[in-house]
Amino acid sequence: MTNPPHVALVTGASRGIGRGIAIELARIGYGVAINFAGNEAAARECRDLCQKAAPKAGRSRFEIIQADISKAEDRKRLLESVKKNFGSFDLLVNNAGVAPSVRADILEAGEESFDRLIAINVKGPYFLTQAAANSWIASLHDAKQPGHRPKIVTISSVSAFTASVNRGDYCVSKAALSMLTPLFATRLAEYGINVYEIRPGIIATDMTGPVKAKYDKLISEGIAPIKRWGTPEDIGRAVVAIAEDRFPFSTGEVINVDGGFHLRRL
Ligand code: NAP
Repeated sequence: MTNPPHVALVTGASRGIGRGIAIELARIGYGVAINFAGNEAAARECRDLCQKAAPKAGRSRFEIIQADISKAEDRKRLLESVKKNFGSFDLLVNNAGVAPSVRADILEAGEESFDRLIAINVKGPYFLTQAAANSWIASLHDAKQPGHRPKIVTISSVSAFTASVNRGDYCVSKAALSMLTPLFATRLAEYGINVYEIRPGIIATDMTGPVKAKYDKLISEGIAPIKRWGTPEDIGRAVVAIAEDRFPFSTGEVINVDGGFHLRRL
């Protein structure tokens, strides 16, 4: 019996880092479920780019799936749609995330933004991971469904440990998200499911567009040892290393993809 093709579900894959991850996975032959929240045109564009990047034209499937990961009914529909379109998937990439709509000092910032960020950046990936894990565990008992060893990758941020007082809600959400990986890595090891966190530094996407001038200056002044913007491709390549099972005896690991931003220096 041959293994089914590799398939990844990448949340927030229409733009930015998620798109970069989808394209790099397409390059190594993965089919990709391209999740997006509202920007269907961007999701279609990502699908076209994946098709172009795929090594054997027409062999891999790429499907766009709208779902707001903060909503339970959308997460359920997302997983059902992946199952319907692909049969199964073996890589979950929790990438979708948002910054506050307005950066505000922590002495003034309101609860609405806090609740929104916790719902999208923490609750969404947490319960999507739970649901994916349960579906994989269920299929382990199905001898008719041979599979790959599934993996989970969560995209957090250097904001998990870096205090930005004008977007405390974002920092708190990323710090909370960072606990997802040790928790699920511990719980899922017995099922052969490895779990990883990728912690990006400053990456050129729509999210950082509004603060480009500020970050240009910080980067040129050496905020990280590697003096350049990170790219979605940088993150995509790290996800590929995990997808290719290059760390089989590692789980719960944090992989910093930040130009060395996290290093303490004197
Ligand atoms: P981005 O360019 O703003 O793209 C965000 C993506 O997430 C889009 O595809 C968007 O879909 C999707 N999305 C937003 N809300 C969603 C929801 N409720 N449900 C499903 N999808 C949703 O952001 P990015 O810079 O690529 O960031 C991606 C991830 O990396 C985020 O978790 C972010 O916190 C993290 N990160 C970014 C940086 C950075 O410097 N850029 C650094 C560290 C970590 P639509 O296109 O449909 O809106």
